[in-house]
Amino acid sequence: MRAGPTVPVTVVTGGSRGIGAATCLRLAAAGHRLALGYVSDSAAAEGVAAEVRARGAACVTVRVDTSEEADVDRLFDRARAELGAVTGLVNNAGVTGPLGRLADARPEDLRRVLDVNLLGYLLCCRRAARDMAASGGGAIVNVSSAAATLGAPGDYVHYAASKAGTDALTVGLSKELGADGIRVNAVAPGIIDTDMHAAMGDPDRAARSGPGIPLGRPGQPAEVAAAVAWLLSDEASYTTGTILRVAGGR
Ligand code: NAP
Repeated sequence: MRAGPTVPVTVVTGGSRGIGAATCLRLAAAGHRLALGYVSDSAAAEGVAAEVRARGAACVTVRVDTSEEADVDRLFDRARAELGAVTGLVNNAGVTGPLGRLADARPEDLRRVLDVNLLGYLLCCRRAARDMAASGGGAIVNVSSAAATLGAPGDYVHYAASKAGTDALTVGLSKELGADGIRVNAVAPGIIDTDMHAAMGDPDRAARSGPGIPLGRPGQPAEVAAAVAWLLSDEASYTTGTILRVAGGR
C-alpha cells in the first residue's frame, strides 16, 4: 500500500490535450487533485481544468516547458502549495518533430525531441523522486510509445529512440526507488487519435492506420488514460518496472 495523504495529488504534464487531457478527466473521476501542465495552449488547458472541476476535483493549471529545470520546479511547487504533497506523476508531455527519414532531419528538431521527451521526463522524475521520498511514497507513470520497440523507420527513429530511453528510465528508476515506496511504470500507446499527428504534418495518420493494427482501428485517448489510472492506483500496488502496451496488438 502507498503511504501518505488519503487524497492523491497528481502532476500531469501535457494535460491540455490528447492523452494527457483524457488522463486528467479519468483521474478526476477517481478522486485525484490535479496539477495540469501545458506549454502553450492556455485555452485548451483551462477547458480541461473546468471539466476536471466539474467532476468535483481540484485543479491548478501551470504553463511550463518540461525541458526547463526551473519550470519543472515551479510546476511541482505550485502543486504542493495549492493541493498538498504530490503522490503521483504522469510524465506525458511529448513531441515528435516532422515526419521523415533521419538522413533528412534537422539537428534542431532532433534536439527538441530529446530535450522534451527525455530530459523533460528525467527532470520531472527527479523532482517527483525527491518529493515522494520525503512524503512517504507515490507512483510515477511515464508515457512511452510502441515506437520504442517498433523503431518507426521512415517516420521518426529519433522519437522512437527517445521513447526507448523512457523505457530504460522506467525500469532503472523502479529499482532505484522501490525502497522509498515509489512505484515507476510506463504505458506504451500505439497510434492514438490525438492532435499529435497533425503536429507532425499528417493529420489523417490515425484515421488511415486501421488496416495495420490487429484490433483494426486507432486507439482513443481514454483507452490509454484507463491504463495510466490503474498503474497509479493502489490496485497496482505490487506493479513496478513494467511497460504496459496499449497498442491494439501492434
Ligand atoms: P498531443 O495531443 O500533441 O498533446 C501534447 C501535449 O503536450 C499538449 O498538452 C502540449 O501542450 C504538451 N507539451 C508539448 N511540449 C511540451 C513541453 N515542452 N512542456 C510541457 N508540455 C508540453 O500529444 P498526445 O498524442 O496526447 O501525446 C501524449 C504523449 O503520448 C506523448 O508523450 C506522446 O509521445 C505519447 N504517444 C502518443 C501517441 C499517439 O499516437 N498520439 C502514441 C504513442 C505515444 P500545449 O497544448 O500547450 O501545446
